[in-house]
Amino acid sequence: MTYQLKYIMKQRLILVGGGHAQLSVLTALAHKPSNFEAVLITPNAHQIYSGMLPGWMAGHYKKEDCCIDLRPLANAARARMISAHMTCIDDKHQCVELSDGSCLEYDLLSINTGSEIDTSGLEAAGERLLPVKPLDNFVKRWPQILGAALHQDDYQLIVVGGGAAGVELAFAAKFAFTRQGCKRPSVALVASQDGLLPGHSVGTKSRSITLLKQRGITLLQAQAGGMAEGITFSSGESMRADCIIAATGVRPPAWLRNTDIKLDEQGYILVDAQQRSLSHPNVFAAGDVCIRQDIRLPRSGVHAVFTGPVLAHNLFASICGQKLRSYRPRKKSLYLLATGPRHAIASWGAVSAQGEWVWYWKNWIDRGFMRKYGVVKR
Ligand SMILES: Cc1cc2nc3c(=O)[nH]c(=O)nc-3n(C[C@H](O)[C@H](O)[C@H](O)COP(=O)(O)OP(=O)(O)OC[C@H]3O[C@@H](n4cnc5c(N)ncnc54)[C@H](O)[C@@H]3O)c2cc1C
Repeated sequence: MTYQLKYIMKQRLILVGGGHAQLSVLTALAHKPSNFEAVLITPNAHQIYSGMLPGWMAGHYKKEDCCIDLRPLANAARARMISAHMTCIDDKHQCVELSDGSCLEYDLLSINTGSEIDTSGLEAAGERLLPVKPLDNFVKRWPQILGAALHQDDYQLIVVGGGAAGVELAFAAKFAFTRQGCKRPSVALVASQDGLLPGHSVGTKSRSITLLKQRGITLLQAQAGGMAEGITFSSGESMRADCIIAATGVRPPAWLRNTDIKLDEQGYILVDAQQRSLSHPNVFAAGDVCIRQDIRLPRSGVHAVFTGPVLAHNLFASICGQKLRSYRPRKKSLYLLATGPRHAIASWGAVSAQGEWVWYWKNWIDRGFMRKYGVVKR
């Protein structure tokens, strides 16, 4: 009897965060009659697409081009949208606590809240420090930085973080400053001891280094720390900065520490190949917030996107007692790095290429992704 009731009564599915994978879940909910009462918890009605952020900074896109409006997606999915952050999961009572003080019970939980930028060591820079995430905060602050650089000679910007995001941000910032007519702006990129673009091929690295040089961006390799006027290096030297953009490594969101869900040693949600929590069978997670127990995957939008359909299938299947699917990542992922103007570098395993055509290819992929979620070209 209890078994049958489970299928008759509506199960409450709570989607936490409107990240890349959750977009697929919302689409699936819209297209499939389901026995879910769905709720989406998100602090913002819009999801900013990081892949187009450097293009927006460089002036190639309008803000609307890079923002997915979650409201029509939630409407189509018949999901109630709550504007709040989740602050805690009470797994004993199967409820989530929200930043507005309310609690909401769940039968099934799907978490896709991304990660935070690890700014430890840089915080002494105070007001000058701007972490690239949360993206909405970055998007609010960037026009102010551009404005300040326009009104001040020798504006100095330092991007800390030699990964793909840091490289793209440095290129975009330099291009934007020059395009705006800023007087003698300088942009430096600081990569840690791991060097520039760890995990990418020698070809991609050398193309990037050459272009950074050509575009007048200083590349430094050192451990950077924050100070009131800028940054200090492990060598004892220091560098003045009007703004420091942190695109350093990521860390798990702090609220995860308030849960009994099994985490790895760094604090990410441990999931299996089906994106299911190792400790809680009714909790699923995808994207940067989680870590696979069986394989190591880079934290990237590519994997968050590709996990989406698997996550959607498994949420439905877990309720209906059907077989769950595994997310099997491709051996190599394609990364297209924007370099400021309408030009980009392609990185795919050991293969690399560059040119304007790469930028148009990236633009075509990114626009296609946005079109899928209702963002039309303006
Ligand atoms: C400048 C830049 C460029 C990048 N370019 C690429 C690229 O070209 N290719 C690539 O593969 N990767 C790229 N990345 C990495 C990529 O952005 C991340 O890996 C990806 O965004 C992770 O996706 P996600 O779905 O896990 O989370 P996110 O995209 O971060 O989405 C998480 C969502 O959850 C919401 N949220 C956060 N906390 C809570 C909470 N407590 N409660 C409720 N909701 C919450 C957030 O508001 C957000 O909407 C780039 C990153 C940056 C910074």
